[in-house]
Parts: sequence; structure tokens; C-alpha cells
Amino acid sequence: MTLPRKALFDLPEGVIYLNGNSLGPLPKGAAARAEDVITREWGSELIKAWNTADWMSLPTRVGDRIAGLIGAPAGSVATGDTLSIKVYQALAAALKMRPERRVILSDNGNFPTDLYMATGLISTVDKDYELRVPTPEDVAQEITDNVAVVMLTQVDYRSGRMHDMAAITAKAHAAGAVMIWDLAHSAGAIPVNLIGSNTEFAVGCTYKYLNGGPGAPAFIYARPDIIASTEPALAGWLGHEAPFAMEIGYRPAMSTERLRIGTPPIIQLSILDAALNVWKGVDMEELRTSTVALCEAFIQEIESRCPQLTLASPRNADQRGSQVSFTFEHGYAAMQALIDRGVIGDFRAPNIMRFGFTPLYIDRADVMAAINIIEEVIHDELWRDPKYQTKSRVT
Ligand SMILES: *Cc1c(COP(=O)(O)O)cnc(C)c1O
Repeated sequence: MTLPRKALFDLPEGVIYLNGNSLGPLPKGAAARAEDVITREWGSELIKAWNTADWMSLPTRVGDRIAGLIGAPAGSVATGDTLSIKVYQALAAALKMRPERRVILSDNGNFPTDLYMATGLISTVDKDYELRVPTPEDVAQEITDNVAVVMLTQVDYRSGRMHDMAAITAKAHAAGAVMIWDLAHSAGAIPVNLIGSNTEFAVGCTYKYLNGGPGAPAFIYARPDIIASTEPALAGWLGHEAPFAMEIGYRPAMSTERLRIGTPPIIQLSILDAALNVWKGVDMEELRTSTVALCEAFIQEIESRCPQLTLASPRNADQRGSQVSFTFEHGYAAMQALIDRGVIGDFRAPNIMRFGFTPLYIDRADVMAAINIIEEVIHDELWRDPKYQTKSRVT
């Protein structure tokens, strides 16, 4: 089956969903799977289901499926917890690998939680660590030989600007630093070759392009050759070599399982497992070609028909992920007016209107229909309606 594969999703009528970069839509089969896990596995099997339904290995089985989408070998991806926690875990493990160095290098375009987690970790270890956040454009040249860890998000959540994973990883390694990539806006959005990049760690979430649903578990990758020496900062019992031996001392598992922490979220993991079925037979290069075509068409039409909007994403498709952003002074109100008319994107402070393009369920006709509505909202200033001016808690 080629793209799009809209039939695999439960999308509401009359909606053009351009927000899969924030929360992917509901894949068909996910609700039935949740129902089955709840009523049959949990309801009738009760605690036996840890064995009879093999709940205990579900994090690993789902991790293997994600690995296939990000160019990682089976057995190298652990799932669970949230992305914020996985950032902390990767960062703590990376710092242990360079005990003589004190600098964590990221950039000021990174998603705030990644930077907050780094700051929190620094205050916990309290050893004169420093978090440096130059601009994304400057970060490569800031990789010097006192940097312990380079921690970057590949695709910028606001602008869609994309870092060159292979080049920056190579530069980090040449300077003796450990590399961590956050794939929140990459996994399921663009082709990723983790093993080829040689990065030590990667982390990501599964509720964006992987359609795992709100609160779906995160994932963490560790390069296979370093896993046996990786020190899990968050040493939970399910990362132990033998959790049910109930030993007093911690002995990490000899596999990626050591990056597990506590009891896995079985219902969410099951939903994610079902959601991953939509990827069967998808060629990531073919997906990328479709994404670029949709984004190019969108940029071209919006720029010619809505001069009030200014492109905030890189113009060169090679430097852009799977989303297109425009700045507009009245962006929040305009986005509310669009959502009211069935075109769902989102808004990021201070003035960014964000549109995600996912060829799994968005095609050229959807993009053209969305553009017509955007033109109407902007040209006729429909966003001026007072009902679009009040900000909700989540934008
Ligand atoms: C979406 C996103 C997060 C969110 O972290 P959670 O712990 O899942 O809330 C973190 N980092 C980046 C780069 C993101 O895009």
C-alpha cells in the first residue's frame, strides 16, 4: 500500500489535520486493542497477564518496532516513562562517560523541557557543570574539547529547522564529546539512520508522528557497543538484571533493558503497539518525498496568497523537517479561526502558526483545501472575531 493511507486512521469528518507533529490522530485498531487489554487481559487474566499476555516484554517488543523506523538495530531501543525523563537519563549516563569534562552543549532553539531537565540534573550533581545554549546556527562551532555532551533536538519544534545529524555527531566525536539526539520531531517524520550516525544516545516521544496517543511512552536508544558500560542514572527495579530476585543491590541488565525504570504503562504501550501497524510497508524515503512535496506546495501558495504571513521555516527543504511555520502578529487568533473551520494546526509563542504535514493521512487535495481556508481567514480578517482572542491553557 502506498501513501496516503487515510483508511488506517479514524479522522473526524470535515477536519484537515495539520497537527500530527504535536499529537498524532487515532489509528484504527488502537481503541479495540485498548479495550481488549483492559477487559480481557486485565479484566479476566488479572495479574497472570504479566506472563500470559507477556506484558513484561511489551516495552522491548514495541522498542524493536520503533527501532525499525529510526535506523536502529533490534534490541537497542527501550520504551517507557516520558521524554523529559529519558532526556535526563541519557544526559546523566553521557556525563558519566566524560567525568573530567564539565560542559553540556545544547542550543537555545531546543524544546524547553530538554533544557530544564539539563539544569535540574546539573543542580542535582552539583559539580560545576555548565549548560551552554548558543543559537542553533552557532552550535556546531561551539563544540570544543571541554564539552562533555552535545544534546540537540534534530528538528526544531517551532520552525522545523533541521540539524545535520551525521555532521554534528562526527564533530562531537572528533572533539571527544558524547552525542545525544532528541528525535521528538524526527521519529516517523523523516528518515533517520541512528546506527549510521554513530550517536551514543537518542530519545524521543511517540505521541507525535508515531500516533501513540496522549501520554504515550517515550523511547531511548543506546548504541549497542556502549550499553554494557552505560550507567543508568535512574536505576529502577525493571532495569535490574533479575528484577524478581529482589536483591538489595542494583545490578543493571546486560542489555538495553537497563534503561527501563519501573512498571511499564501496559495500556498505553498496547495502544502504541497497535498504532505502529500503520507503518507496515511504509518506505521512509517515499514518505519524505511526499512530505517535501506537500510542504513546498503549502509554502508557495501561502506566500503568494497571504503576504501578511512570513515564512519562519527554512526555505530549503533539505534543512526542514516535516512542518512549516509562519509568523503572523495575530497568529493565535488566526489559528483559533482556522481550527473553528476545520483546519487544525497550532500556535507557539510569541507569534508562530505551525502546520505539520504527514503524508500518512494528508494529501495534496487536503493541503489545497486548507490553503483556501487560510486565505479566507487572513484576507477577510476573520480572526478579529472576539471569540478568537482568549487564550486557552494549551495553545
Ligand atoms: C514534545 C517534546 C518534548 C515533550 O516531552 P514530554 O516529557 O513528552 O512532555 C520534549 N522535547 C522535545 C524536543 C519535544 O519536541
